[in-house]
Amino acid sequence: MQVTAIIAAGGAGVRIGASTPKQFLDLGGKSILERSVAAFDDHPDVTELIIVLPPDSGRNPYAPPSTRHPVRIVTGGRRRQDSVANAFDAVDAAADVVLVHDAARPFVTAEVITRTIRAAAEHGAAIAAIEASDTIKRVRRTGSNKVIVETIPRDTIYLAQTPQGFRRDVLAAAVALGRSGVDATDEAALAERAGHSVHLIEGDPGNVKITTADDLHAARQRAGGRARTGRAGTGYDLHRLVDGRPLILAGVTIPSERGALGHSDADVVCHAATDAILGAAGLGDIGRHFPDSDPRWKDASSLVLLEQAASLARAAGYEVGNLDVTVILERPKIKDHVDDMRGRMAAAIGIDPSRVSIKGKTNEGVDAVGRGEAIAAHAIALIRSRSDASR
Ligand code: MG
Repeated sequence: MQVTAIIAAGGAGVRIGASTPKQFLDLGGKSILERSVAAFDDHPDVTELIIVLPPDSGRNPYAPPSTRHPVRIVTGGRRRQDSVANAFDAVDAAADVVLVHDAARPFVTAEVITRTIRAAAEHGAAIAAIEASDTIKRVRRTGSNKVIVETIPRDTIYLAQTPQGFRRDVLAAAVALGRSGVDATDEAALAERAGHSVHLIEGDPGNVKITTADDLHAARQRAGGRARTGRAGTGYDLHRLVDGRPLILAGVTIPSERGALGHSDADVVCHAATDAILGAAGLGDIGRHFPDSDPRWKDASSLVLLEQAASLARAAGYEVGNLDVTVILERPKIKDHVDDMRGRMAAAIGIDPSRVSIKGKTNEGVDAVGRGEAIAAHAIALIRSRSDASR
């Protein structure tokens, strides 16, 4: 069975009060979106991922999270249903079941996902829901007054969660109805309107939706309680500076009279960072994996070495939490290039640029670095096991 998971993260998500859309906010070392994506990426039945991002995410600094499954990124629409419709257009034609999950529910469990997939395959449409535990009142509003007009029997009330699962043809009908002008707050409502029975499966009270600042605070406490110690690694590199060589740092060519001398591009930032990641993972050092004698690495950008180090760490069960680099050189100043450098390193590692820091220092004229004869870099990386990081 082919199962596509659509992760709806296309909203502005600003009700929480932050300038950053909430799906990109940090939750115990990973963004809310990364956690939601990881829940489906790690699920054994999911075969494809589609992530809906806000329309301006081409300009914003967020990188899609790194995933094991093929992932497609689509742009969100004005309403949630427009976003899901855009995503549906990208669903593999061979998909049997399509799940729609709200990125703001990062604590969804594998059990809930499994139940949704099974029920959707069997019945055509099924959503996770939980029984209401509070008594539900229908009210009439008059100005600021609210008066109860009815107490609704609690056992008839369920609170909808996500994932919501559909056979492909059922979601196609729901999407078509939405495109014809029908408004709905979720895909289940469109499927109902299209004449399909939507079944409920047992959701999870822990599968909360993060909407307010209080929700985020509670979620962070919960995520922090599960955080475990990571592993740290350091790296150091130094190259001589000579006339007539380009100065390449973190893959960026910095305008400079002098450049670093070396067999490769002599990128001290990438070399120090590569060693930090390899060191944290206990995988040896840059010379062991990328020897000077191997012609493959001779003219390669050192970003490739960094990318390889991150994938070696991933293969060993780790992912990079964050990386911090200090570059020591007398001139030129690198501050105007730092954002570009961070972006390139983050892309090579497969993490968000917010997890990469680069700082420039001089050596105050002291020693070879201070005399401008060399450039040096120190790096530290923190890595975490993937199973810790994904939850
Ligand atoms: Mg080096």
